Amino acid sequence: MHNLPRVMVFGLGGTIAMARGQDGTGAIPQLSAEMLLAAVPQVSLWARVEACSFRNVPSPHLTLDDVAELARAIDQASLNGFDGIVVTQGTDAIEETAFALDLLVQSDVPVAVTGAMRHSELPGADGPANLLAAVQVAASPLSRDIGTVVVFQDEIHAARFVRKVHTTSLGAFRSPSAGPIGYVTEGRVRMFARPGRRVRVDLAPGKPDVPVALVTAALGDDGRFLDALPDLGYGGVVVEGFGAGHTSPTVAERLGRLAQVMPVVLASRTGAGEVLRGTYGYTGSESDLLRRGLIPAGILDGPKARILLACLLRAGVPRNNLVNAYEAFLDWSPRTGASLR
Ligand code: ASP
Repeated sequence: MHNLPRVMVFGLGGTIAMARGQDGTGAIPQLSAEMLLAAVPQVSLWARVEACSFRNVPSPHLTLDDVAELARAIDQASLNGFDGIVVTQGTDAIEETAFALDLLVQSDVPVAVTGAMRHSELPGADGPANLLAAVQVAASPLSRDIGTVVVFQDEIHAARFVRKVHTTSLGAFRSPSAGPIGYVTEGRVRMFARPGRRVRVDLAPGKPDVPVALVTAALGDDGRFLDALPDLGYGGVVVEGFGAGHTSPTVAERLGRLAQVMPVVLASRTGAGEVLRGTYGYTGSESDLLRRGLIPAGILDGPKARILLACLLRAGVPRNNLVNAYEAFLDWSPRTGASLR
């Protein structure tokens, strides 16, 4: 028993920690991380688990500051001898918080993020099973060095690829660009792929927030609000273009002007695949936008490209190094650093 790995569970709230309010109305966060663990006594077969209620909020209430503070607490837990970390939280923002943790946690301790689609009082509540699988992943020696993953419905997804793709399905998490990297069966962890090398960003406490806007191209929208972004105090913007990274001519012109005064990153609104660099040549095509100074987001989708830009700008990374950070996610070779592009 004493040889079992040590796992720390940080609770942030979300549906997994929710139950109906006392007046019988909608579900709100109520259960502590200790209470979540008490519902899954089986975890003690896999790990010596401790719990910490770090926040207890719906995930849309979380901020990058909350995640940065959690990343520091995770590093401290690693220093204190924990072998793995589980984070329980709301599913709405998992794809962003997990990716932010993958950037901000400096240690090699594995982090398994999970949640639930059905709150604790609903028939078929999925929280306990997801929590058990997350503990099994966090405790597994196979998880060393994989950074942050999302564990849901016994699937293991790399933080850089995972997306919430359904409003209510128990299988709401998918990695459209790559598929899951592993799964858990009868408590055994199987990894059939490993995420590419990690990009770490060191955010010292107290660094001021740099607001980054996320905008989506839409048919017939001339993007007039883009002109207002500098005066609104934004320090950067990510645009989710049509298809492989395209906009209308008017929006292209506006983005080009914006790129003179702040970093503008080009992602795709499709949610999967890499933005192109040199296939199309029309005004507003990817080639045109890159010529105007936009930075290709590579394989990252819009919300993740925005988290990366927000972290890099807050860390004070100079503008000419931003391109390299996005390029790094195209390097899928964890050990050699060789690029498979
Ligand atoms: N609205 C909830 C949240 O993200 C949804 C969930 O947890 O599934 O906190």
